Amino acid sequence: MTKQSVHIVWYKRDLRIKDHGPLHKAAESGLPVLPLYIVEPMLIHAPTFDPSHWTFIRQCLIELRESLAQLGQPLVVRMGDAVPVLHSLAEEFEVKQIWAHEETTDLLSFKRDDEVRVWAKSQAIPFDEMPKNGIVRGLSLDRREAWKSIREDRMHKWPWPTPEEIRPIVGQTAQGLGDIPDHDELGIMRNERELQPAGEKAAEKMLQGFLLWRGGEYIQKEASPLTAPAASSRISPHLAYGTLSMRTAVQEVRTQLKNFKHMPPQEKRQRGRHWVGSLRLFGTRLTLRDETMQQLEWDPKMEIANQLSGFDGLRPIGADGWPAALLEAWQSGRTGFPMVDASMRFLNHSGWLNYRMRAMLVSFAAHDLWLDWRGFAPHLSRVFVDFEPAVHYPQLQMLSGTAVKRGMRWFDPIAEAKRQDPQGEFIRRWLPELAGVPKSFIHQPELMSAEQQAKSGCIIGRDYPAPLVDHAEAIAKAKTQVGLIRSPKVRAQDSGLELPGN
Ligand SMILES: Cc1cc2nc3c(=O)[nH]c(=O)nc-3n(C[C@H](O)[C@H](O)[C@H](O)COP(=O)(O)OP(=O)(O)OC[C@H]3O[C@@H](n4cnc5c(N)ncnc54)[C@H](O)[C@@H]3O)c2cc1C
Repeated sequence: MTKQSVHIVWYKRDLRIKDHGPLHKAAESGLPVLPLYIVEPMLIHAPTFDPSHWTFIRQCLIELRESLAQLGQPLVVRMGDAVPVLHSLAEEFEVKQIWAHEETTDLLSFKRDDEVRVWAKSQAIPFDEMPKNGIVRGLSLDRREAWKSIREDRMHKWPWPTPEEIRPIVGQTAQGLGDIPDHDELGIMRNERELQPAGEKAAEKMLQGFLLWRGGEYIQKEASPLTAPAASSRISPHLAYGTLSMRTAVQEVRTQLKNFKHMPPQEKRQRGRHWVGSLRLFGTRLTLRDETMQQLEWDPKMEIANQLSGFDGLRPIGADGWPAALLEAWQSGRTGFPMVDASMRFLNHSGWLNYRMRAMLVSFAAHDLWLDWRGFAPHLSRVFVDFEPAVHYPQLQMLSGTAVKRGMRWFDPIAEAKRQDPQGEFIRRWLPELAGVPKSFIHQPELMSAEQQAKSGCIIGRDYPAPLVDHAEAIAKAKTQVGLIRSPKVRAQDSGLELPGN
């Protein structure tokens, strides 16, 4: 029997139908399109994986299957490693071409993509990987000056039109499509985290809601964990799983800013006086995302190795001498620093935290607790629903002081608490054991006398821990150690991985 000719669109972290180059190209071929998602054991068993990631991805896949069905061919789902799955499809169909996006993610995925390239070549199947976001593959370091203009060019281009229809595979049964497995089928525990909605429609709603209503005070409210959840865009998981394209976000924000110029004064007033500044800052952050990701594209080992090797062995990592109790206290929000603990518990619950508080958590782990980022990175990857390796690892290294880029950056968790949550509202919400602590002690409850502790119903050391470290002492020590390593000698080691103008 002759095999049916198809084009495969291999979905990975690009779970959408809008502005999707591979889908557009495959549909344009006029042949039946097989849109494919592979549930890879490598993803499910990675130390960075959390069942809540699957909750989010699964919701995206259910919606994507429906959207593709409306175009003509529902999503096909297979479980297994990428090469054997593609190989078995190539036995069933005559695969004319495989389309996918370039992925800048973790080392496992880079390796998987390499293996698929080798396999596709061995089968003489063209495998076309199209650029995603503003990351430029193959850009040599001596041409890094060109990065900004290449990205800008991409952001200006028209989004790929969504095909009006895609030609379906003939004779495919519902069973042939494959199940979108739930947690039980994958053998993973479902957890009760309160995540934001997933899928392409939710992404669009989130972006529009931010640009038209919520974002007007972003510039003022994004730093405090009290106000940031509503005032920030919350599009990070959508960019991470590709339910929204970077180009769509960039073009939407630019259109809004352009429209603003021609708005009647009354409408302008309604937007608020911080609206323009807020949207501009948001646009800058989108660029920063691509800039950060480009660092990992150039140096994928950032996921596992200090960029500045002088830091190797400085902080404990692994079994020997690894202060497990400190890590456990930090992960569970029991360090004795209310802002650190409330931020961690909020993050553990919701999968999201604003940038400033993420940075404070990392600064605390790296400098106050003196932990190696490789030891605490997996916890953050698991709890972030927007886990994006190429943003995550460069940020961890930058904040730990181990990256080429920038010097040591540290936060004072007490000053931060007073600035971002002066009344202690956020702290009380996420640390119920501090609910009865008076405002004057909410940022440092250990300063209460024994009598005050009894009266507030919070005994330090019993209901809430005493601070694990002396912050001033710990930072002074960290500054000396980090300073010694980030000396001019280290700068000489600068491998030039930095983008210009950062
Ligand atoms: C240690 C650490 C780890 C991080 N890990 C991740 C991660 O795994 N995935 C992730 O998406 N973001 C990560 N960030 C960046 C940032 O904190 C989040 O993108 C942001 O909080 C997400 O919320 P939002 O979508 O409301 O962002 P907004 O504040 O509304 O910003 C809009 C978008 O800009 C981008 N962005 C904002 N700030 C940054 C930044 N500093 N660097 C790069 N891009 C930025 C994000 O894509 C974000 O969605 C990390 C930050 C730190 C300090």
